[in-house]
Amino acid sequence: MRNLTDHVRELIALEGPITVERYMSLCLQHYYATRDPLGSSGDFTTSPEISQMFGELIGLWMLEVWNGMGRPSPVHLVELGPGRGTLMADLLRATRLLPDFAGAAQVHLLETSPSLRQRQQATLASSGHAIQWHENVDDLPEGPTLIVANEFFDALPVRQFLATDRGWCERLVGLEGDRLIFGLRPEPETALGNPLRQDDVLEWPSASIDILQALSRKLARDTGAALIIDYGYWGPAFGDTLQALKDHKPVDPLDEPGEADLTTHVDFHRLAQAAATEALRVHGPSMQGDFLQALGIEARASSLKTRATLEQASGIDSALTRLTERGATGMGELFKVLAVTHESIEAVPGLPYLSVS
Ligand code: SAH
Repeated sequence: MRNLTDHVRELIALEGPITVERYMSLCLQHYYATRDPLGSSGDFTTSPEISQMFGELIGLWMLEVWNGMGRPSPVHLVELGPGRGTLMADLLRATRLLPDFAGAAQVHLLETSPSLRQRQQATLASSGHAIQWHENVDDLPEGPTLIVANEFFDALPVRQFLATDRGWCERLVGLEGDRLIFGLRPEPETALGNPLRQDDVLEWPSASIDILQALSRKLARDTGAALIIDYGYWGPAFGDTLQALKDHKPVDPLDEPGEADLTTHVDFHRLAQAAATEALRVHGPSMQGDFLQALGIEARASSLKTRATLEQASGIDSALTRLTERGATGMGELFKVLAVTHESIEAVPGLPYLSVS
């Protein structure tokens, strides 16, 4: 593939500065298409890569929700952005507890990266399920559907606006000589109203909202549930959360376009609002630590340890701590869990029912 830096420079030279959203989109496509970003040799590590307990407990969550739905068959089991396919593999193993579910479940993966599709195929080859891949949520088949998305929404591009004395001005990426720099569109975006405080940054996750609205329409029509796990906050809040990670370390997002992972923190309130427009219920958000505790992660760890060597047991303990740890940077607190379900599903495991306004 051509060097993305040259491509971005040429694009800006031809068309003028591009939005942060377009820049992110170009970088992310290249980034995910050209590597396996996960694990200790990659740029970041996710919960399913830390421990099998994560996917297994989500599998039990799916079983319980499916039971509550009256055990529809077939049921479409969908994962958005499955990475290496580890979560789905662990989830499917746990759901073998109920052979009826294994018979009913049809697995669909939403993945744009050809190299990660290959990786997922290899991971899931022994799962006993035929896997179908899709590019877009609109391509998913009709029928009752259970969806999971872990660290998917943080990997989608966002628009950014800076509060100026003229109003909210969109952040752009432009050129100074050969160097990429951030800039601002001079005219404000009047639809956003007037900012209260100068220098606030507003992030607008249009791609996430579009996907959530499409999923919501589907869940309202076909029934089912979506479980969303990611790092983020309950907005509204202002701040620039755009971050680039390479080799597990933060780098400048404009350095080496397409070679670092670009992410933003997920505003769960906005996602909940995008879902609240349909005949749906929103459950949560809870902190990941509380959610996993409620699903019984301690008991699962103890049971795994009865068959483990001393070294494995200490690995299980440290994974348990990592997934549930409190504190601003602990995954148990930084990561939140939200579920969106058809209105007929009144309760889901591990999450309180929420009335969104
Ligand atoms: N869920 C996995 C991986 C998270 S990384 C885990 O927890 O380990 C983000 C994943 O989303 C990757 O698989 C990436 O290729 C995929 N992805 C990113 N943007 C996407 C898009 N627009 N559509 C579909 N998949 C996308």
